[in-house]
Amino acid sequence: MSTEPLATIDTELDEQITDLLRRSDQRFTKGRRALVEALLAGGQPMTIHQVLETDTRLAQSSAYRNLVVLEAAGVVTRIVTNDDFARYELAEHLTHHHHHLICSSCGDVTDFALDDQAEAGLDAALHKIAAATGFTVEAHRLDLVGVCSDCD
Ligand SMILES: [Zn+2]
Ligand SMILES: [Zn+2]
Repeated sequence: MSTEPLATIDTELDEQITDLLRRSDQRFTKGRRALVEALLAGGQPMTIHQVLETDTRLAQSSAYRNLVVLEAAGVVTRIVTNDDFARYELAEHLTHHHHHLICSSCGDVTDFALDDQAEAGLDAALHKIAAATGFTVEAHRLDLVGVCSDCD
Protein backbone atom coordinates (compact mmCIF):
# COMPACT_ATOMS: atom_id res chain seq x y z
CA MET A 1 0.00 0.00 0.00
CA SER A 2 1.34 3.41 -0.96
CA THR A 3 2.14 5.96 1.70
CA GLU A 4 2.51 8.79 -0.79
CA PRO A 5 0.10 11.67 -0.16
CA LEU A 6 -2.60 12.06 -2.81
CA ALA A 7 -2.15 15.80 -2.94
CA THR A 8 0.27 18.15 -1.30
CA ILE A 9 -0.90 20.49 1.41
CA ASP A 10 1.32 23.53 0.99
CA THR A 11 2.83 25.31 3.99
CA GLU A 12 0.31 28.14 3.98
CA LEU A 13 -2.71 25.82 3.89
CA ASP A 14 -1.09 23.62 6.53
CA GLU A 15 -0.68 26.61 8.85
CA GLN A 16 -4.24 27.84 8.22
CA ILE A 17 -5.74 24.43 8.99
CA THR A 18 -3.51 23.86 12.02
CA ASP A 19 -4.59 27.24 13.34
CA LEU A 20 -8.31 26.61 12.76
CA LEU A 21 -8.07 23.25 14.52
CA ARG A 22 -6.07 24.71 17.39
CA ARG A 23 -8.88 27.20 18.02
CA SER A 24 -11.16 24.18 18.48
CA ASP A 25 -8.60 22.54 20.78
CA GLN A 26 -7.87 19.98 18.08
CA ARG A 27 -4.74 18.88 16.27
CA PHE A 28 -4.06 18.38 12.56
CA THR A 29 -3.58 14.63 12.93
CA LYS A 30 -2.45 12.17 10.28
CA GLY A 31 -6.02 10.97 9.72
CA ARG A 32 -7.33 14.53 9.28
CA ARG A 33 -4.43 15.33 6.97
CA ALA A 34 -5.32 12.31 4.82
CA LEU A 35 -8.91 13.57 4.58
CA VAL A 36 -7.82 17.04 3.50
CA GLU A 37 -5.45 15.47 0.94
CA ALA A 38 -8.29 13.33 -0.44
CA LEU A 39 -10.53 16.40 -0.77
CA LEU A 40 -7.72 18.34 -2.46
CA ALA A 41 -7.06 15.44 -4.83
CA GLY A 42 -10.76 15.10 -5.62
CA GLY A 43 -10.99 18.74 -6.54
CA GLN A 44 -14.77 18.81 -6.21
CA PRO A 45 -17.36 18.20 -3.47
CA MET A 46 -17.22 14.54 -2.43
CA THR A 47 -19.41 12.18 -0.46
CA ILE A 48 -17.74 10.34 2.39
CA HIS A 49 -17.95 7.24 0.19
CA GLN A 50 -16.01 8.99 -2.57
CA VAL A 51 -13.45 10.21 -0.03
CA LEU A 52 -12.94 6.67 1.24
CA GLU A 53 -12.58 5.38 -2.32
CA THR A 54 -9.93 8.00 -3.05
CA ASP A 55 -7.75 6.96 -0.13
CA THR A 56 -8.03 3.33 0.79
CA ARG A 57 -5.90 3.94 3.89
CA LEU A 58 -8.79 5.79 5.51
CA ALA A 59 -10.98 3.88 7.94
CA GLN A 60 -14.67 4.68 7.67
CA SER A 61 -15.35 5.18 11.38
CA SER A 62 -12.47 7.58 12.00
CA ALA A 63 -13.12 9.37 8.70
CA TYR A 64 -16.65 10.19 9.88
CA ARG A 65 -15.42 11.47 13.23
CA ASN A 66 -12.63 13.49 11.65
CA LEU A 67 -14.95 15.08 9.10
CA VAL A 68 -17.19 16.22 11.95
CA VAL A 69 -14.16 17.78 13.70
CA LEU A 70 -12.94 19.42 10.48
CA GLU A 71 -16.40 20.80 9.75
CA ALA A 72 -16.82 22.17 13.28
CA ALA A 73 -13.41 23.87 13.02
CA GLY A 74 -14.37 25.53 9.72
CA VAL A 75 -11.86 23.58 7.63
CA VAL A 76 -14.45 21.62 5.70
CA THR A 77 -17.90 22.64 4.46
CA ARG A 78 -20.78 20.22 4.13
CA ILE A 79 -23.04 20.75 1.14
CA VAL A 80 -26.47 19.28 1.71
CA THR A 81 -28.15 17.97 -1.40
CA ASN A 82 -31.48 16.32 -2.19
CA ASP A 83 -30.11 12.83 -2.12
CA ASP A 84 -29.11 11.05 1.08
CA PHE A 85 -25.44 11.91 0.81
CA ALA A 86 -23.94 15.18 1.94
CA ARG A 87 -20.90 16.33 -0.01
CA TYR A 88 -17.79 17.73 1.62
CA GLU A 89 -15.24 20.21 0.35
CA LEU A 90 -12.51 22.40 1.77
CA ALA A 91 -14.00 25.61 3.14
CA GLU A 92 -14.16 28.48 0.67
CA HIS A 93 -11.86 30.73 2.73
CA LEU A 94 -9.13 28.09 2.30
CA THR A 95 -9.68 27.72 -1.45
CA HIS A 96 -11.59 30.25 -3.55
CA HIS A 97 -15.09 31.69 -3.79
CA HIS A 98 -17.40 29.65 -5.99
CA HIS A 99 -20.91 28.31 -6.45
CA HIS A 100 -22.44 24.88 -6.98
CA LEU A 101 -24.60 23.09 -9.50
CA ILE A 102 -26.62 20.56 -7.49
CA CYS A 103 -28.42 17.80 -9.38
CA SER A 104 -31.75 17.09 -7.71
CA SER A 105 -31.90 13.69 -9.40
CA CYS A 106 -28.51 12.06 -8.63
CA GLY A 107 -27.27 14.53 -6.02
CA ASP A 108 -24.06 15.25 -7.87
CA VAL A 109 -22.44 18.59 -7.04
CA THR A 110 -20.21 20.53 -9.41
CA ASP A 111 -18.28 23.69 -8.58
CA PHE A 112 -18.43 26.72 -10.81
CA ALA A 113 -17.18 30.29 -10.57
CA LEU A 114 -18.55 33.44 -12.14
CA ASP A 115 -16.24 35.83 -13.94
CA ASP A 116 -15.25 38.91 -11.93
CA GLN A 117 -17.78 41.17 -13.58
CA ALA A 118 -20.73 38.81 -13.04
CA GLU A 119 -19.60 38.17 -9.46
CA ALA A 120 -19.39 41.90 -8.75
CA GLY A 121 -22.85 42.46 -10.25
CA LEU A 122 -24.34 39.65 -8.19
CA ASP A 123 -22.65 40.89 -5.05
CA ALA A 124 -23.91 44.44 -5.61
CA ALA A 125 -27.49 43.21 -6.11
CA LEU A 126 -27.32 41.10 -2.96
CA HIS A 127 -25.79 43.92 -0.90
CA LYS A 128 -28.62 46.21 -2.01
CA ILE A 129 -31.27 43.75 -0.84
CA ALA A 130 -29.45 43.21 2.45
CA ALA A 131 -28.90 46.93 3.05
CA ALA A 132 -32.64 47.57 2.67
CA THR A 133 -33.25 45.34 5.67
CA GLY A 134 -30.26 46.56 7.69
CA PHE A 135 -28.49 43.28 7.19
CA THR A 136 -24.68 43.28 7.03
CA VAL A 137 -23.39 40.87 4.42
CA GLU A 138 -20.20 38.94 5.10
CA ALA A 139 -20.40 36.52 2.19
CA HIS A 140 -22.90 34.93 -0.14
CA ARG A 141 -23.69 31.36 -1.02
CA LEU A 142 -25.51 30.64 -4.23
CA ASP A 143 -26.15 27.13 -5.47
CA LEU A 144 -28.17 26.22 -8.53
CA VAL A 145 -30.50 23.25 -8.17
CA GLY A 146 -31.55 21.36 -11.28
CA VAL A 147 -30.85 18.31 -13.36
CA CYS A 148 -27.35 17.45 -14.59
CA SER A 149 -26.61 16.38 -18.17
CA ASP A 150 -26.24 12.71 -17.12
CA CYS A 151 -29.74 12.65 -15.62
CA ASP A 152 -31.46 14.85 -18.17
ZN1 LIG B 1 -17.72 23.79 -3.97
ZN1 LIG C 1 -20.38 34.52 -5.73
